[in-house]
Amino acid sequence: MRDWPLWRLKRSALAYWLLVDAAALALVVYVIATSPRPDPEQIGRFAAIAGTAGAVVIGSSIYSHRMGETSRNPWAAHLSYLAAGAVALPCNLLVLLLFGPALHGVLSQRPESHRWLFTLSATALSVFGARFAIGWTEPAAELPQLVVGAVALLVARAVLIALGLRLRNPSAPGGEVVGEPIDAVLGVVAVSIGGLMGSAALGDPAHALLAGPPMALLERAAQLPQWRRSAQRDAKTGLANAAHWDARARYELSKARPAQRPMAVMLLDLDHFKRVNDEVGHLAGDAALSAVALLLSTTTRRGDLVGRFGGEEFVVLLPDAEPAVARSVAQRVRQAVQELAVPTVRTDGSEHLLTGLTVSIGVATTERFGYELPDLLVAADSALLAAKGCGRNLVEMA
Ligand code: GH3
Ligand code: MG
Ligand code: MG
Repeated sequence: MRDWPLWRLKRSALAYWLLVDAAALALVVYVIATSPRPDPEQIGRFAAIAGTAGAVVIGSSIYSHRMGETSRNPWAAHLSYLAAGAVALPCNLLVLLLFGPALHGVLSQRPESHRWLFTLSATALSVFGARFAIGWTEPAAELPQLVVGAVALLVARAVLIALGLRLRNPSAPGGEVVGEPIDAVLGVVAVSIGGLMGSAALGDPAHALLAGPPMALLERAAQLPQWRRSAQRDAKTGLANAAHWDARARYELSKARPAQRPMAVMLLDLDHFKRVNDEVGHLAGDAALSAVALLLSTTTRRGDLVGRFGGEEFVVLLPDAEPAVARSVAQRVRQAVQELAVPTVRTDGSEHLLTGLTVSIGVATTERFGYELPDLLVAADSALLAAKGCGRNLVEMA
């Protein structure tokens, strides 16, 4: 318990996460203590909703395991049957539905179980917030109330979670904290399916089964952002991989060509990198690559396109950069790499602060080489070779 990753959170984040967990627990206890015993009809509805959702989540988990999907986002499906419960079940049976995501967290043995618990608590609070909005004891299944409940659920959950993630990592990019637009779409689809399922179950519990196929489709669709990320990003550094960088760079160049906006391509190759691997170890080499990737992302502008070109080679497209600007960006990067100190571990397990990394950079500009990406890359590569030839730790303009 003392080495739980939870305790490594910043103090403000820890206080907030524990507060959300405690509030959810208190609410669950209050609901169990105050709700009347459910009648057989309500139990029938619960069985239909839980049975349908359970079949979808378990079926999808088995499929995803077979397909070798290692990371997946199961919250869209959980959100949809919880929304159905908020519409069609008494509060104590709604608490029972929360066992779905709770059990999922335990069975899938997430490495960050405190994060799962925090997300579950935030979800529980927002589901009961939605229930409050549509009527605590007698929920109204009319459209205006359902819409208000859906908005309350999605907004409360997004805010509670975003605040927790922001406190945990104040410098995290916005997309990581509030999610991507596709996450919002998935949320809306999830609660819509939930609303339909709940309304159908109010008429006849068996009709809840009809929500099974759309829920299964939603479950698959929820994996799209993960698939896209793994198709576009390099796993080791998190940067755009070579294919994705290539496609984006061609697109940016084609957009810049009509107005002849100045663009530049910067090709970087770490100097004597084989020595790092040979002298400190491959894990240290990997840590150095990640550190350089992070440095490139932080020392360039927002619209600049950073990619991993190959092993220890990186590439950056600089939109709206005159040759002089491109040269100064390259010099800034070169200088910053020289000043890097990367905490690493040697092959014998001892700690080692890796310093003295340097990089050679070749820069090609559209002013001289035009807007065809292959021409720019060939020119940048030969400038890079020239930088290596002149002694390394240098910037060469093509
Ligand atoms: P130069 O200054 O001429 O570029 O010397 P160098 O040693 O960097 O060049 P070379 O191309 O001979 O070697 C590049 C090395 O980069 C070879 C390989 O061991 C290392 N490397 C490539 N990809 C990775 C990786 O993903 N992880 C690690 N640890 N090393 C890598
Ligand atoms: Mg190389
Ligand atoms: Mg090299």
